[in-house]
Amino acid sequence: MTEIKSLTFDELKGQLAALGEKPFRAGQVFKWLHQGVGSFDEMTDLSKALRQKLAESFVLTVPKAVRRQVSQLDGTMKYLWELQGGDCVESVLMRYKHGNTACVSTQVGCRMGCAFCASGLFGLKRNLSAGEILDQILFMQKDSGENIHNIVLMGTGEPLDNYENVLKFLHIVSCEQGINIGQRHISLSTSGLADKIETLAQEKLQITLSISLHAPDNGSRSKMMPVNKSFPIERLLEATGRYFDITGRRVSYEYAMARGVSDRPWQAEQLAKLLRGRPAHVNLIPLNPVKESALQPSTRESVRRFQEILERHGIAATVRRRLGPDIDAACGQLRRRNIEEGGQKT
Ligand code: SAH
Ligand code: SF4
Repeated sequence: MTEIKSLTFDELKGQLAALGEKPFRAGQVFKWLHQGVGSFDEMTDLSKALRQKLAESFVLTVPKAVRRQVSQLDGTMKYLWELQGGDCVESVLMRYKHGNTACVSTQVGCRMGCAFCASGLFGLKRNLSAGEILDQILFMQKDSGENIHNIVLMGTGEPLDNYENVLKFLHIVSCEQGINIGQRHISLSTSGLADKIETLAQEKLQITLSISLHAPDNGSRSKMMPVNKSFPIERLLEATGRYFDITGRRVSYEYAMARGVSDRPWQAEQLAKLLRGRPAHVNLIPLNPVKESALQPSTRESVRRFQEILERHGIAATVRRRLGPDIDAACGQLRRRNIEEGGQKT
């Protein structure tokens, strides 16, 4: 059976028409879905007969919050959701001055195997559907009573390794008839699947593309991120150059600083050289330590020195504040702990 929240508005209209319903019903149903209803029976302005017909024709996914952690320091909320079928994914709600931001997962696990990441430790279990990605936003909003203004696809999973569903999600979440979060308020983070970046460029979306670069030389980057062996830095930057040319959107670069591996001054010089002349923004993030990994965070001093070198070369660089440091906010860590404690199936 079709998952109803994985349908775009137009698809829903088509499916309801096939069931003999008038087009305006699609608007009502879509609105209810985006409020995070727990059953079709909650759609109180529909006839009982229609609600029954919907329940017979579609699956309504309703994730269950199995863990919830709230940071005492900054109010960041981290959720672990159990999906239909028992898989678990995590999402985070962060409170920034410019609005509440939801960080959501796109896959159960990840197969990219980055050395510093807790999400990839168990490999990839499955892709999330468009509706399951959307649900994380709808149900965080419902559970917390807070409106969500921005979305980052920076939870577990490689969004471009689940291309079709992620693209559909982007269309559904930014659709006027639903929760309607503007594409300029959405960032997609990727470990650097250059071919998919070029395909995505053709969609001409207004989202921000964020590249997890983490090192400016192929030797260090391949050690941190196996994907670099398939798409080395030169190939990746060729793709991001095309992305900018086609969409006109400035690309942003994430740079997790690992002590003695990616934080040396010559690497700042090399990064500046790589990005020279490109409209780019660099986010420096001290690595979050993950116990299975030997990589350690850089010192505050070396982060500052790195930033100075970039700025001297005219590259815009900010140091990302770590939110929720008291609640395992690094991606994948809550799910990992849950699996280790035997709390849930993977
Ligand atoms: N798979 C995508 C998006 C999810 S990861 C990607 O890799 O871009 C979101 C971000 O968190 C990425 O920039 C990733 O490199 C970073 N990340 C993962 N583990 C981290 C850790 N231990 N410390 C700091 N950043 C980390
Ligand atoms: Fe996957 Fe991103 Fe983690 Fe790498 S950093 S293993 S791509 S989730």
